[in-house]
Amino acid sequence: MSLLVSLEQKFGRFAIPNLVRVLTLFHVLNWFLIRWSPGFPEKLMFVPALIRQGEWWRLVSYLALPGGSSILWLLLGVPFLWMINDGLEQAWGSFRLNLFILGGVVCTALGGLVSPEPSTGWALWAGLLMAFAVYFPDQEILLFLILPVRIKWLAMLTAAGIGFQFLGGTGALRWHILFSLLPFLVTFGPGFARLMKHRGEVKERRQRFEAASRREEAWFHKCTICGKTEIDDPALDFRTTAEGDEACDKCRAKKKDAP
Ligand SMILES: [Zn+2]
Repeated sequence: MSLLVSLEQKFGRFAIPNLVRVLTLFHVLNWFLIRWSPGFPEKLMFVPALIRQGEWWRLVSYLALPGGSSILWLLLGVPFLWMINDGLEQAWGSFRLNLFILGGVVCTALGGLVSPEPSTGWALWAGLLMAFAVYFPDQEILLFLILPVRIKWLAMLTAAGIGFQFLGGTGALRWHILFSLLPFLVTFGPGFARLMKHRGEVKERRQRFEAASRREEAWFHKCTICGKTEIDDPALDFRTTAEGDEACDKCRAKKKDAP
C-alpha cells in the first residue's frame, strides 16, 4: 500500500482523469467506423503474432474497441461504462484507475509472449466490471432497460462465464485470461484471502462467545467442589452436604470414597 502511495505522489500528476470515459468516447467513435467498415475491428485487435510483425499499435489499440456493434451496445454499454468510470474514480482516484488499466495492458502484452490468443481485450473490461462490483455491489442497473439487476449478480455471472471459458478453453486462451485478469487478482486477491480469514475468525469468536454466554446463564444449583451447575451437566443431582454446601452426586460419591 505504501508503495502505491509513493508512486501516486511521484506520478499522480501524469494520470489521465476519467480514463474509462475517454476510452468510451473512442468506443463510440469506433462504433461508427465499424458500421462504415465492418472489417475495421480486426485492425485494432490484440494479436500477438501481428504485434511481432511490427503492428505494435495492437498493444493498446484494442482498448478502443467497443463491446459490440449493435445499437443496443450504444444505448446500454456506454452509460454502463460511464458508471464504472465514475464509481472507480470515486473509489480509487484517477491514478489508481490509470494504474489498473495500464497494469492490464502490460499483463495482456506479457500474456501475448506465452499465448498466441487474439483478443478484443474483453477480460480486461470484465476485470473493471468486477472491480466496480467490489465497491458498489448493491448498485442496481436496468438490464436491457427493463430488468433491475444488482451489480454483484452481474459480476458473479461474469466471473462464472470467465470460469467456464477458462475451464473449457485451450491452453492459449487460459493464459490470455489469466494474464489479462492479473491486475484484478493482484488488487483483490489478498484482500479476498484476508476477508475469508477474517470471516473464519469472526465465526470462531462468535462460537466462543456463545459458549461463554451459555455458561453464564442463570443456574439454580452449583457444586461448591467442582464448580459445575445443572446447565453444564443436566444429569447431575445436587444435594446440600452436612457442612451446608451444595455438591453434585459425583463429588459426593468421591468424598465418600476418600479416607
Ligand atoms: Zn461436583
